[in-house]
This record gives sequence, C-alpha cells and structure tokens, in this order.
Amino acid sequence: MALIVQKYGGTSVGDVERIQGVARRVARYKEAGHDVVVVVSAISGETNRLMAMGQQIGGDKPLPRELDVLLSSGEQVTIALLSMALMQLGVSAKSLLGDQVAVHTDSAFGKARIERIDTQTLKADLDQGVVPVVAGFQGVNGDGDITTLGRGGSDTSAVALAAALHADECEICTDVDGVYTADPRIIKDARRLDQVTFEEMLELASLGSKVLHPRSVEFAGRYKVPLRVLSTFQEGPGTLITMEMDNMEQAIVSGIAHALDEAKITVAGVPDIPGVASKILGPIGRKNIEVDMILQNTGADGLTDFTFTVKRQDFAEALATLENMAKEFSAREISGDDAIAKVSIVGVGMRSHAGVATRMFDALAAENINIQMISTSEIKISVVVAERYMELAVRALHAEFELHDQEQSANV
Ligand code: ADP
Ligand code: ASP
Ligand code: MG
Repeated sequence: MALIVQKYGGTSVGDVERIQGVARRVARYKEAGHDVVVVVSAISGETNRLMAMGQQIGGDKPLPRELDVLLSSGEQVTIALLSMALMQLGVSAKSLLGDQVAVHTDSAFGKARIERIDTQTLKADLDQGVVPVVAGFQGVNGDGDITTLGRGGSDTSAVALAAALHADECEICTDVDGVYTADPRIIKDARRLDQVTFEEMLELASLGSKVLHPRSVEFAGRYKVPLRVLSTFQEGPGTLITMEMDNMEQAIVSGIAHALDEAKITVAGVPDIPGVASKILGPIGRKNIEVDMILQNTGADGLTDFTFTVKRQDFAEALATLENMAKEFSAREISGDDAIAKVSIVGVGMRSHAGVATRMFDALAAENINIQMISTSEIKISVVVAERYMELAVRALHAEFELHDQEQSANV
C-alpha cells in the first residue's frame, strides 16, 4: 500500500463525463489499497475565461488580490464535482480549498510561492479512508488572502503536497502519456521518454515545455519526490523524472522546448561606457519585470546596441519604462518585437560533447532561419528566431539530433 498524490489537469476534468472518468481512475487506486490525495485544475479554458473577464473590467493589470480571488474560483468548481463523482462511486471524498488545507504562500499575488503546508487535515482525512480532493493553483497568505501560484501552477501544488506528506509518488495525470522529445502537438513523431533527469526536466519546463510547471520540478528535485507524468486516459508507464539516469547511454540532446511568451527590446546607439547595462535594466528590474536573454553588440564610434527579452505580458510596460529613460542616455532608437520565439535544445550529454552548438546553428542555417539571439548554459542552448519559424526550427533540430520515434517513423 502506498500514498500517492495524483494531479489531474484541465483537459482531464474538461467536462462532467471526464470528471466521472477521473473518479473511476481514483477509485481503482483505492480498490488496490492505496491512499490517494487528489489535486485538480480548473476545467480547461476556465482560467482563461476568468482572466478575460478580469481584464475586461480591470484592464491589462487588474487588481492582483481580486484577480486571484477570481482565478482561483475555477478550481473550486472541479474539487466539488470530483468529490461528488467519487462519492457516487462509493468512495469517501472531501473537497478542500487551498486555505482549508492550508497551503501557506507568500503574498506575491499571481505568482505566489508555497512556503509551508499543514498536513494535519489531510492526514486525519486519510486516516479515515477519505480521499482529500484539493484545489490546485491556490494558497493563502499570512493575511488570509487567497493567492495563486502562476499559470500551470497546479503541478506545483501537487508536488508540494507530495513532499509535505512524504508520499511514495506524485503522478501528474494529463492529456499526453508522458514527456516527449518535443511538444507532440508540433512534432508528430516525437518520442516519449521513459526517464528524464530532474536537471533536464527543469530546463525543459523553464524553457517552455508546459507539460510540467517549472516550480513543480524544482520542488521534486529539492524534496526528492518521485515524480511521474502519465496519461489520464490510457494505461502506461509515462515518464519518470529521475535523479540519476542509471546504466543508460546519455543522448546528447534529450529534448527540445519552445516558448512564444517573450518579446525583444533593442536600445540602439547608447554610449559604450561602464554602467550602461545597469542604467537600462535597473528601471526594468525596479518595475519587477523579469529579463531573460541579454545581448550587447560590439561598440562602434563609442556607441553600442543593447538587446534583451522580457515576458510578452511585460512588453508594453518595459517599453514605456525605457521611453521615460531614453532621453537620459540619449539613445538613438528604442525598438521592440514581440513576434519572436525561443527554441532550446536540452541534454546533460552536452557536457561531454563538443560541437553541439555548431550542429544546432548549421541545422537552422540549412533551413534559412536567422538566429537573433543565443544563450547557453552547461546543458542547454537557446536561440531566438522569428515567431513564424518556430515550428520549422523545432522540426529541424528534432531531425538533426535524431530524436524521432524510430518505430513510428518507420511506419509512416
Ligand atoms: P494539464 O492541463 O494537464 O496541466 P497542459 O496543457 O498544462 O496539461 O500540459 C500538457 C501539454 O503540454 C500537452 O498537451 C503538450 O501539448 C504540451 N507539451 C509541451 N511540451 C511537451 C513535451 N516535451 N512533452 C509532452 N507534452 C508537452
Ligand atoms: N487552472 C490554472 C491554469 O489554467 C492552473 C493549472 O491548470 O495548473 O493556469
Ligand atoms: Mg498544466
């Protein structure tokens, strides 16, 4: 008998029939003698719908506290419906909101971090044979206000609960049957990975593979939570996120991630003197706008161009912040482009192989894709390309590093 935390995403609880299907899946685990804690997302599309209403009234930046009250309501619906569905099957269940558990977070509305989870309520329920059905994506701050963890944050709720309860495994049940070498919606012959290391998964998630919320992987690594991604709808082993890959020959590149949520800003013709970067990025940082990639061109005539990327949602504010500052550094021009994509290759095998970057750039060049920015770390290389080349770039790199599913390709 094991203690398992299972998280079901938006598509998995997409309508009443699917919620009943999830209830049957949970019931099977109970019948097999396991203790189960369930975490659910809102019905797919619901969080977007709520967000749109919030923006209709509150503009681009609705009041954060109220927005979190609004957004968290989606999960309140699904915990109640799933608990009802479980009880219809004769399984004792109880819905719990974030503050009923309680999941304590800091006060950063919209991107709150979990600080601590009380386990007494959950343990008492489990002792009684009850399945706690917990609302993902939400918590409560020190003032008793509802907070949310950022889009896709239910994964993090689940892994954090698994860590707090010392669960035997955390299952992320979703609409794909595991982690693939690239988004299977784009690459039809992408291959499911049996295992992927925490390190690689953290990079993939942070670089845009939305199959797992980055912070959930961080938690799993830190608290050594056995984490598996698998399908809600079909049986199968899924993908295990492991600390070490044992006895396996490491592929150089394990996966490819893409992200369409960034925008690029160039400040052209600024003085090539010490302190310029901090003058440009300082005001951006003070607005709490996160900067991702940074590029400074070689100066000419004492002037240089400075380019960086921010999240698209912060693009307008970042531009406005710089307009105000432009006079001070008498920049020639400030320009922006939000039609960009970031495409990244990730693999721990890169550590021990030279020439990976060259292969990547050659493969993109062969498709006539211009690289606008590059950033590297030990186990990843990211490039920024025009958004319209995103799919082509992912496909070219998937082929270059031979990531495709051999069997499936043979059948095509
Ligand atoms: P959920 O609602 O269950 O949380 P998400 O939509 O957040 O589901 O995440 C699952 C989706 O992640 C898949 O449908 C798939 O399109 C996408 N995805 C992106 N990259 C990958 C990848 N490397 N492997 C698997 N799925 C991926
Ligand atoms: N419902 C939230 C969202 O759509 C949280 C989640 O699905 O994980 O972002
Ligand atoms: Mg998700």
